[in-house]
Amino acid sequence: MKVFVRDIAYMLENIAPLEYADSYDNVGLIVGSFYKEVRSILITLDLTEEVLYESIKKKCDLIISFHPVIFKSIKNITGKTFSERVVIHALKNDISIYVIHTNLDVIWEGSSSYISKLLQINREKVLIPRKKTIKKLITYVPVDYAEKVRNALFDAGAGNVSDYSHCSYNFDGYGSYMGNKKTKPFFGKKEVFHIEKETCIGVLFPDFKLDIIKKALFQNHPYEEVAYEIYNIENTNSHIGIGFIGNLVENMNEYDFLFFIKKRMNIPCIRHSNFIEKRIQKIAMITGSGRFGIEFAMKEKADVFISSDLKYHDFFKYEKKILIVDIGHYESEKFIKKLLKSFLDQNFTSISVFESEVYTNPVKYFY
Ligand SMILES: [Zn+2]
Repeated sequence: MKVFVRDIAYMLENIAPLEYADSYDNVGLIVGSFYKEVRSILITLDLTEEVLYESIKKKCDLIISFHPVIFKSIKNITGKTFSERVVIHALKNDISIYVIHTNLDVIWEGSSSYISKLLQINREKVLIPRKKTIKKLITYVPVDYAEKVRNALFDAGAGNVSDYSHCSYNFDGYGSYMGNKKTKPFFGKKEVFHIEKETCIGVLFPDFKLDIIKKALFQNHPYEEVAYEIYNIENTNSHIGIGFIGNLVENMNEYDFLFFIKKRMNIPCIRHSNFIEKRIQKIAMITGSGRFGIEFAMKEKADVFISSDLKYHDFFKYEKKILIVDIGHYESEKFIKKLLKSFLDQNFTSISVFESEVYTNPVKYFY
């Protein structure tokens, strides 16, 4: 079966909806066409000219990049910057460019999931939950059809609350209606008042699944005029947001912990604050630039906060309260290539997926 760019985009956006990206970000298909056939894909953290040449060499039709090669709007493309040259060469060689970035950061199975497994951390919840991501559906279904509708809603992604699935609230009551001449009521007759025993089903769902949930409801509810209500919920979803809080499978002393990270993640250099003389068990982590997360990690009483792009004074400020660790921006995100490859391999067996072999880290270490 042929695979097109739109199929890849649809799959990725089902995992990491574009709506979840930060407002400054530039995600989705940024170069090329949704209707182009894809036979092979190159995944990269950064899209440099070298990576673009690699994709030409490997005969890739699509590049999936974590960091956007274009952040801000461009008024002209003349090749004066590497971003413009990448776009020019991509267009010349008929290569599409797709970006999945901050929308992947906020998803539970996103940017930090691979690292947490690598570091043997059992994640509990996100560190900074995203607000206003939950909606609630209430629907009224004839009693004999309640199970069918409920299951269809679960299958479409409703009813997941933290680590519980298939959550719903149900009660029976009586619904009434009277259709006019144009109606075809499922029970009763047109222009005749009717009362039917119905089950009221209430389920929560992530807001980006609204269309899928409504489709499942309309396809499985027997009434021609489906009775339903949708509400915005203020509760936060413990699985949607930035970073995570979790516990090491086995606690260790600070020296061993830093050595463990360095080895497991193959990091050349780690910056850290003074040791707090405590065994490390509770971990707070944000991949990429995450200095805004330190206060949240403190509130959660984490023993250590791991991130990148931390400032000099960050290492002073939290002395003896929490161990602050900067592992480097590139180093904290380099495993995202493997994560994206696993999504693609699971869903598209007929295409070749390569991780870029180019070392794109712009920060060099002299040691
Ligand atoms: Zn980044």
